[in-house]
Amino acid sequence: MERIMPNRLDRGFFQYQAEFEAKALEVLRSGWYVLGNEVKGFEEEFASYVGAKHCVGLASGLDALWIAFRVMGIGAGDEVIVQGNTYIASVMGITINGATPVFVEPDEFFNVDVTRIEEKITERTKAILVVHLYGQASQMDAILALCKKHDLRLVEDCAQAHGAKYHGKQIGTFGDVGCFSFYPSKNLGAFGDAGAIVTNDDKIAEDARIFRNYGSEKRYYNKVVGANSRLDELQAGLLRVRLKHLDELAKEKQAICERYLTELRNDKIELPRIREGATHIWHQFVIRSEQRDELQRYLDERGIGTIIHYPIPPHLSEAYQYLGWKEGDLPITETYAKTVLSIPLYNGMTKEEQDYVIGTINAF
Ligand SMILES: *Cc1c(COP(=O)(O)O)cnc(C)c1O
Repeated sequence: MERIMPNRLDRGFFQYQAEFEAKALEVLRSGWYVLGNEVKGFEEEFASYVGAKHCVGLASGLDALWIAFRVMGIGAGDEVIVQGNTYIASVMGITINGATPVFVEPDEFFNVDVTRIEEKITERTKAILVVHLYGQASQMDAILALCKKHDLRLVEDCAQAHGAKYHGKQIGTFGDVGCFSFYPSKNLGAFGDAGAIVTNDDKIAEDARIFRNYGSEKRYYNKVVGANSRLDELQAGLLRVRLKHLDELAKEKQAICERYLTELRNDKIELPRIREGATHIWHQFVIRSEQRDELQRYLDERGIGTIIHYPIPPHLSEAYQYLGWKEGDLPITETYAKTVLSIPLYNGMTKEEQDYVIGTINAF
């Protein structure tokens, strides 16, 4: 059998090839390439999909995060609470504006442990950044209660969880802003970089809309010092095609993960858990093993590629040495970094590939 990669973006393209190609040609022939009708159409459709009043298309998920904090005025001198075991972009979204991330340990679902947040709140704390890691919704009722009690802003990093719900409500709509990435490997992926924020707050939406285009609402009249974080027509058009199929794509991944959950059987591995009331849209299928590195090598030798999300937690990365955290400060986060492994999972994964992954892991 051909080597099984952790992800296969080509399969996702071929599933709707005719529709993607037709849309790409339509945009190329239109003569309008940045911030046009495709962007407007996508913003309306995505806002309606998640049930938010506004969606503002941006150039990336990282931009969605830092622009959200910027328009809310959270920066130097402010603290933002975030889980320790996230992708480093979550943290950069905070620090680009000069704010300080305060790390909290995760729970057994890989999301923030809500029982450990309150002890980290100080008079400088301005917001909680919740990351719905690997595709599973976080425990939003408890987080919302903390935000109300301490008068904090709530920002959701939804880069890995398009369409996930908590007690029936779409993530991204619980707090002030939901930040999305449409990087090609995400569950709603573009064919290049793209991102967006969703919000029910008219002011945040308007300010982000102005900020993304050099701070101008009207051409050459600049209200604030902004950035160039515009979404282009090609990506927006292709995202509209994928969005139409997002629920069926999610079901397909769900079915693969249900097989993994019932058929993977090996005492040396621990399977992911699903929180009651939360949905998991399976951006990644993350197992844990004390013999993780050995398992990864074993799978690699048998033609199965895997990825570690993430081997170095942000508080130990070279980039954040200036924050002063050290090894041992976040033992659960650090244990996850040493034991997690994401096994192959993608739309268009054949039954044969699934069988081989299951059989090989079970034989480890
Ligand atoms: C991918 C990702 C981002 C950043 O998105 P980009 O579009 O790559 O900038 C932020 N947070 C998380 C959790 C992500 O997985």
